[in-house]
Amino acid sequence: MDTRTYWYYRQRNTYAKFAISNNDTPLLDSLTYDDFKNSLKTYIRKKWHISWNNQSTKLNQIKSTTFRWENPNLNRKDETSLNRLRIGHTRLTHGYLMSKDKPPYCEACGQRLTVKHILTECQIYDQERMDLNLTDTLDATLGPNPDQNRKILKFLKLTNLIDKI
Ligand SMILES: [Zn+2]
Repeated sequence: MDTRTYWYYRQRNTYAKFAISNNDTPLLDSLTYDDFKNSLKTYIRKKWHISWNNQSTKLNQIKSTTFRWENPNLNRKDETSLNRLRIGHTRLTHGYLMSKDKPPYCEACGQRLTVKHILTECQIYDQERMDLNLTDTLDATLGPNPDQNRKILKFLKLTNLIDKI
C-alpha cells in the first residue's frame, strides 16, 4: 500500500470509528456502497441468466445456468475430455473441420455424429449407458455433478472413445 492510500484508509477509519461511537450520528435508511454493488451484481446476474436461458445454443443445452461449475478432481486428460464434451466439439465429431472432410455420420444410426448423439442416443452404446445408469439429458450428464462426470468418463473408457474426444 502506498503512503497516500495508507493515509486515505487511516483517515476514513478514524471518521468511521467516530461516527459509530457518537450518539448524535443520525441513522439513515440509505444504501451503502456495498449494498448498491451487491444489488447491481444480482440484477446483472438475473439479466444474464434470463438472456442465457432464452438463447438456443449448443452451450445452453448443456449448461442451463450462469453459475460457475466446479470440476471434480480430475487429471488433465479427463478434464480436457469433459470440457470438449461440454462445448460439443471433439476430434471425433469436429475433426473434419481440420481435415476438410465432410461432417461424420454414425455408421449404425445414420445420424449426424454429435456429442449429444453419442452420449444420449446412439444405439451402439445402449448397453454401456444402461450399465452405468447414465441420464438421458446432456445438462444432467455433463453438469457440475462429480458422480455424473466420473460416470461419463467411465463411459468414454468402456467404449474406447476416450482417445477420440
Ligand atoms: Zn449412432
